[in-house]
Amino acid sequence: MSFIKCNYHTHNRLCNHATGESKDYVLKAISLGMEEIGLSDHGPIPTSFMSYQEYKDNLCYRFMSLDVFEHIYLKELDDVIEEYGDKIKIYRGLEVEYLPYEKEFYEMLHNKLDYLNLGIHYFVSNGKIHNSYSHVTYENVLDYAKNAVEAMNTGLFKTLVHPDLFMFSYENINGERKFDEAATEASKMIIEAAIRNNVYLEINCNGLANSRKYDSDDWLYPYHEFWKLVKTYKDAKIIIGVDAHRPEALDSEDVEKILGFVKKLDLNVCHKIEF
Ligand SMILES: [Zn+2]
Ligand SMILES: [Zn+2]
Repeated sequence: MSFIKCNYHTHNRLCNHATGESKDYVLKAISLGMEEIGLSDHGPIPTSFMSYQEYKDNLCYRFMSLDVFEHIYLKELDDVIEEYGDKIKIYRGLEVEYLPYEKEFYEMLHNKLDYLNLGIHYFVSNGKIHNSYSHVTYENVLDYAKNAVEAMNTGLFKTLVHPDLFMFSYENINGERKFDEAATEASKMIIEAAIRNNVYLEINCNGLANSRKYDSDDWLYPYHEFWKLVKTYKDAKIIIGVDAHRPEALDSEDVEKILGFVKKLDLNVCHKIEF
């Protein structure tokens, strides 16, 4: 199986929907001869950030609690660096969403870690929180983009993971899942903000498993029209992320398929993230 030398998108059991401890991912990476690994489990989302219904609808209980972050996750990261830091370069990170009215919270997380991955799993539109997997249409896709741009403008984020997640079940004016004018406009906003803020755009390997889960013949993401557009921007920084939810994902067939996708589109992918 193929694998990538550096991966900065790695989960573990603490988010409640991945398996294995940080150590298991690090050991797997060492066994593959990888050079760098970034540990970036899903960060906490305080219940006070949204209504009870919104919290439930967006599956926020699937992420680690603040208590777990402070008392287990941070210690686990330090322990694993102490034990294996001489065998592989390990970075301490998190994957989080961004709500503009809770900026201090993300600053607090950022200050305790080496980096933050930004994932727009939900976004604010018309004062409500919409889920990126199920509620994106030509009418609100610019709000998805605005949420991403606002987050990147804070300078708190290293990478925007699966930037094309909005295409998961996107609907154009005719209810079709097509990369229309609004999707193109949203993508341009995202790509240009990433370039301005020196944020990497991630091609996400886990999109393939997610597509199979929903019995889709096409890849729901990565979405090729999005990446064809990225290619037209010479200064965009692209990175591949495994989004590993189990240690074996680091050298799965999906990584190989993504490498094929990158080759076919002739994308200029960064080998490493610069810190
Ligand atoms: Zn996850
Ligand atoms: Zn992830």
